[in-house]
Amino acid sequence: MYAALDIGGTKIAGALVDEGGSVVHRAELPTPARESTQRMARTVDAVIDTLSAAPAWGTVRGVGIASAGPVDTVATVSPVNIPAWRTFPLVESVRAHPMLFPGIKPVLLGDAVAMAAAEHWLGAARGVDNALCMVVSTGVGGGYVLDGRLHSGPSGNAGHIGHISVGIDGPPCACGARGCVEGYASGTAIARYAVQAGWSPRPGSQPSAAAVAASAREGDERALAAYDRSARALAAAIAGSAALLEIEVAVIGGGVAQAGETLFTPLRRHLRAFAVLDFVRGLEVRPAALARDAGLIGAAAAARQEFNKVGGAAPAA
Ligand SMILES: [Zn+2]
Repeated sequence: MYAALDIGGTKIAGALVDEGGSVVHRAELPTPARESTQRMARTVDAVIDTLSAAPAWGTVRGVGIASAGPVDTVATVSPVNIPAWRTFPLVESVRAHPMLFPGIKPVLLGDAVAMAAAEHWLGAARGVDNALCMVVSTGVGGGYVLDGRLHSGPSGNAGHIGHISVGIDGPPCACGARGCVEGYASGTAIARYAVQAGWSPRPGSQPSAAAVAASAREGDERALAAYDRSARALAAAIAGSAALLEIEVAVIGGGVAQAGETLFTPLRRHLRAFAVLDFVRGLEVRPAALARDAGLIGAAAAARQEFNKVGGAAPAA
């Protein structure tokens, strides 16, 4: 059994996940994002309390924590949408929980890297040794599986594909760079571009990527153009990744991927224009398979990879 935590801006979810990837026990509490640092930590402890009351807790081999970023997997998190935590030592805090077995060091990973771990273990990248998994929603994130293993980098931030530039003279990005993928491809960018082109949502609703997708399905040229632009930026980034790392599959999840063929049809077309070297032409794009629980499953996958890496050295109950 692996214990998994998924720390998000609205909820803190926990689960016990078995060796086959099934969730056998759950716990969940709302995130007190704007309360004190300690109140946040106590809420995480309360989720662990609930998990540790389950009989299956006795067979826990590892603990994985997926968190909204930024993370520094050496130990700390500073989630943008949880102001209560800035460089909070999450790994030490969880490790200090009285129900945690000595010898188990929690593994921390960013939520996009967790999604990659989940898709590789049980989803659309299963059985693929070299894959890029992207979350395209309000922002754009990603994670890599290389040579069959999750590649999260020294600080856990490898795969930040939303902030590589695909337009050297492109618009300034909040990160300080210019022409970032996120500025073209995110749900926010899609809605903004459509509005600038003269599209407007139905009366009484807000502009959103989902509303633009609905208009695109009805043939609205401005809505189609906004998705085409997003798809083109994603294709450039994916093709670049394939040329660098020989990824075989790119998995796309997140709210924008819910647009289905409105996104994937232009994405595949643009990929043919960008992925032109012989060794990247076979690159395949797939929709994510695990919308629900991707954070928890990914956290468990990382704990499982860690357990197998240390050769099962962690003690049993
Ligand atoms: Zn950026």
